[in-house]
Amino acid sequence: MRSKIVAGNWKMNKTLTETNTLLAELTGKLPDTDAEVMVAPTFVNLAAAVQDVKSSSIEVIAQNMHFAENGAYTGEISADMLLDIGVNTVIIGHSERRAYFGETDEILSKKIISALDKNLRVVFCFGEELEDRKSDNHFNVVSNQLKNGLFNLKPEAWTKIVLAYEPVWAIGTGETASPEQAQEMHSFIRKTIANEYTTKIAEAVSILYGGSVKPANAKEIFSKVDVDGGLIGGAALNADDFIAIIKAI
Ligand code: PEP
Repeated sequence: MRSKIVAGNWKMNKTLTETNTLLAELTGKLPDTDAEVMVAPTFVNLAAAVQDVKSSSIEVIAQNMHFAENGAYTGEISADMLLDIGVNTVIIGHSERRAYFGETDEILSKKIISALDKNLRVVFCFGEELEDRKSDNHFNVVSNQLKNGLFNLKPEAWTKIVLAYEPVWAIGTGETASPEQAQEMHSFIRKTIANEYTTKIAEAVSILYGGSVKPANAKEIFSKVDVDGGLIGGAALNADDFIAIIKAI
């Protein structure tokens, strides 16, 4: 059985004080759930966040990392730095990294390889732009992102991969893909992986949906058979909303 996952991407939000407060609320209100619950605070607060959730089942994950092991990369963070503070999972390929920081498929592939080399788990994000969907090119775009990011991996590496399909037009816009659109794409993703690898690998990988998931729409999206949870942006910044989304799974 693949894992159900609810992951909150806090982006460049929450000071240290606010991080401590939100995590105290989340750990206090966390419902009993089979789902894995993850939160991704900003780098500067990761170590404190790891301590904050120590006695709960919440996992603190990183929003990004550099592909180099160490060296002259001012402002960057390595896999070893994450591991050393107790962070074992990293988001790679978020559309904001692609759009604002020039992260190409080639760079993302290097990051994924480095993360897996260090035994980090990777939450790989991808998804089409509005133009791609309007021109009916969304399946092509997604299959290229999968191919360029992941299809050089050995089959055994897939146990460390979580996928997050995030149509760019639905991120932070309030516009969600319909549950049917999400299911259609998630099923396509699974078939694409099965064709490249095996049905067993495709069936075992968790595929999260991301893009304006809120308490009001989470249950319907999560009810779809190929949707294994969500990557949540805005709604992860409020404890009650995030808890409601966890309950929806
Ligand atoms: C995201 O940035 O990964 C995201 C899904 O954001 P939001 O939920 O705010 O659309």
